[in-house]
Amino acid sequence: MSNTIQLTSNPGKIISRMVSQSHFLRVSSGKKAILLFVLLILSGCKSRQLTIPTVQMDIEPEFWVRVLLLDDVTGCTLKTVSPFSVLNDRTDPQTQITQARFSQINVPISIELTNGGITVAGQAFADDKIVIFPDDPYVFNLNGSDYRGKVKLIINPDGSSFDVINLVPPEPYLAGVVGAEMPGYWEPEALKAQAIAARTYCFYIKKRFGANRNWDLKQTAAHQVYRGLAAESAQIWHAVNQTKGQVITCKHPDGHEDIFPAYYSSTCGGHTENSKNVFGDSFEPLVGVPCPYCEDVAKPKFFFWPMIQFDMDEVSVKLLERYSKLKRLGKITNITTASHSDYGEFSRLTKVKLFGSTGKSDFLRAEDFRLTIDPTGRKLRSTICQIVKLRNKWAFFSGRGWGHGVGMCQCGAQGMARDGKNTKQILSYFYPGSKIISIY
Ligand SMILES: [Zn+2]
Repeated sequence: MSNTIQLTSNPGKIISRMVSQSHFLRVSSGKKAILLFVLLILSGCKSRQLTIPTVQMDIEPEFWVRVLLLDDVTGCTLKTVSPFSVLNDRTDPQTQITQARFSQINVPISIELTNGGITVAGQAFADDKIVIFPDDPYVFNLNGSDYRGKVKLIINPDGSSFDVINLVPPEPYLAGVVGAEMPGYWEPEALKAQAIAARTYCFYIKKRFGANRNWDLKQTAAHQVYRGLAAESAQIWHAVNQTKGQVITCKHPDGHEDIFPAYYSSTCGGHTENSKNVFGDSFEPLVGVPCPYCEDVAKPKFFFWPMIQFDMDEVSVKLLERYSKLKRLGKITNITTASHSDYGEFSRLTKVKLFGSTGKSDFLRAEDFRLTIDPTGRKLRSTICQIVKLRNKWAFFSGRGWGHGVGMCQCGAQGMARDGKNTKQILSYFYPGSKIISIY
């Protein structure tokens, strides 16, 4: 069963999405690229027809995902395609009270912080937390982006701003993740492997950190990218629904079988990396395996990345700002390899040694070093590279791969699927020793 709803789409949004995933695209000629661009503009200029599956909203509360959409804001704009309720924030339905009903459809509604409370379309609510619950099909637009589920607004302790959190069942959450993390036209078995890895990662982060904060995950690459309805397609929904409730587990150090942080990254460059060297955690499936698959999938200019240079002073400032322990070093004057994983043809830096103008030195994990210098990770794309000093700059060259390299290699998963491997084979290759189980 499905509902058809009409939502306006923003051409800029669609184009920027394609650009952000462009390293996956194989456009063989300039003509094709122009045609694609024209099609994108045309498709973005009119409203978009979305056929959406009926989303089950009755899944147990423990499985709902809380995604931080806006952090520390004083206002936002909401639009819905159905009437909505404002509820007080009670998990027990017996004590949950509908405080107001709103019937404005397809009208931008202003939400503001006023006099220590939250005002929705001019109506003030005294609680420091409220939940906005759109009627079926449970879709809302926040500041121009479409999402499913409910919206929770929480005033921060000092009363000066509020956070906006999307409360969403796991499958629609994952549809918004899988479609943002992998192109929808990729092999179904690769998309299913991605759905299971993303579901496992989500529940691991929720379980590990969610109890101590009002949300489980950010919607950025800090956790995993979540774009809501903009990322969805029939292929993506198929992958999510075909694997509904499935996660991967492994034996933990105390002997019990449980989920683990099923990290994944775009292109490993030829060998995935042991998580201990990148994130500092040890799980059997995150040891690092050879990957002969991604080189054929990634475009050569993305598999091998060009030399990139950073100004020495700029690098020094960024490192000292991010890590106060480095302040005693003064200005960073030299950077050397402290440890690396040797894979024969290439090696991945895992730890760097930093020398300062005060004569002191210290160490950083190479991945932390990389993302401090280039937080987007788009220029300095991996730690498979060499570092040299060129006059007043640091040059990074012989680069290959994209991302941290731990867990499943996304291009590698696509390569395996193209070779006829199924989801289970892909997951047990990139997460050796893991098992697929269903948790709901
Ligand atoms: Zn790979």
